[in-house]
This record gives sequence, structure tokens and C-alpha cells, in this order.
Amino acid sequence: MINLEKVTKKYGKFKAVDNVSMEALPGKITVLLGPNGAGKSTIIKSIANLLEFDGNIEICGYKNDTLEAKKNFGYIPEVPVLFDLLTVDEHIDFIGSAYKIDNYKDIADEYIKLFKLVKKRKSLAKELSKGMKQKLSMVLSLMIQPKALLVDEPMIGLDPASIEDTFKILHKLREDGCAILMSTHIIDMLHEWDEAYILHHGKVVHYVRREELGENTLKDIFFTYTDGE
Ligand code: ADP
Repeated sequence: MINLEKVTKKYGKFKAVDNVSMEALPGKITVLLGPNGAGKSTIIKSIANLLEFDGNIEICGYKNDTLEAKKNFGYIPEVPVLFDLLTVDEHIDFIGSAYKIDNYKDIADEYIKLFKLVKKRKSLAKELSKGMKQKLSMVLSLMIQPKALLVDEPMIGLDPASIEDTFKILHKLREDGCAILMSTHIIDMLHEWDEAYILHHGKVVHYVRREELGENTLKDIFFTYTDGE
């Protein structure tokens, strides 16, 4: 579970995020939607403990800056953070050892096959395409078998087949009880989701559960609450 309570982030006097409370529950895909500048990245970075903020953020019941929180937390950033001069396999060994994951090779093998990266295992990160880098970044985040997963704009840089593969994985993680929080502005490609928070000018302006949609689409609701932006 990822829980935000009254989170505010100011840049100087400007409130980029204004008193936001929200939660991503286990076994659900929760999406954070908002037009450019709404404050999505600021929230994501705050959850990932990359920014200071006012308020409280907990991951699986632990404050987000604690080791316990980090053990349970997977983060897939929009721009992959990799080491240019390490191969795919070396990245896997590095994360497997750093997190002391016993069976990391087996877990990684499964994802490497799914993402069709088998032939790239000996390639350096700098030799991978943008989409392949994104997929390696996902493999590394998923290797720790997170109970809470934060995904920032997962569709960017991926081809349609890879997007399908990503959603298959998210679907499986959801079945396994992982709490998934995904930030995106590409609503058209959102096939899998359970709950959505719509952010506008730093505030949550609407929360909707999928079963409450009725005749509306998520896109209709999004435009209603963001002045058509
Ligand atoms: P989103 O990810 O939804 O596009 P951001 O969280 O990146 O939105 O930005 C929210 C607001 O905060 C924007 O108005 C943006 O210009 C502002 N902002 C973001 N980062 C900074 C920063 N480092 N300094 C000042 N203002 C910032």
C-alpha cells in the first residue's frame, strides 16, 4: 500500500502540490492522471523519496524514507537510470546482490524472456534502444518482488507489443496483491486500472473507481475535471 496524507510541495512560494491525500491499495492498479504541470512528477518524486515535502507518505505502513519501506518498494522511473558500461546481466547481478535476493537469477530470467531481452544479455546498457532500456529498468525494479510499485509514464518509449507485455506484468502483479500506482497522461492506452485520481493545478480534483464509471469513459471524466486540458 502507498499512502499520502496531506502532502504539499512548494517551490519557493509556488505550491506545485497542494494538500494531496491519496492511497494505492494492495491488488489494485491506481492511476494518477493530470495534464502537463498538474504536479504528477512532483508527487512521484516525493513518494520515491527524491524530494522533500510537507505531510506524510507511507509505503506498506512505513515512512517512505525508511529501509523497511525501500525493501518493499519498486520504482520504475520515466527515464531509466542505468549504468552505461554495465551489461544487462551485470545490472541484474548488481541489483540481486545489493538487495540480497536469493533467487534473483530465476526471477530475472522470467522477465528477461517476457521482454524479449534474451539476446541482449551481454550488451552494454548504452548499446540498448530506448525501449530496451525501459524494459531493463522494469526487470530491475520487479526483481525485488515489490509489495508496492510506483510506475511513472510506463508507455513512453515503448512499442505497442512492449506496452502489452508491460500491462500483462502489471496484471500479474496486481493478482499477487501488489499495490500499483501509475502516473500517466496517455489515457487512451489505459486498459488496466481500478482506481483513478485526477490531479489539476496541484490538487486532487476527482477520484473515481472503475466500477463507478457508468456510461462515461475515463477520458470524459478527465476532461470534465481539467477544463478540457
Ligand atoms: P507534471 O509531472 O504533472 O507535468 P510537475 O510535477 O513536473 O507536473 O510540475 C508541477 C508544477 O511545478 C509545474 O508548474 C512546474 O513548472 C513546477 N515545477 C516543477 N519542478 C519545479 C522546480 N524544480 N522548480 C520550480 N517549479 C517547478
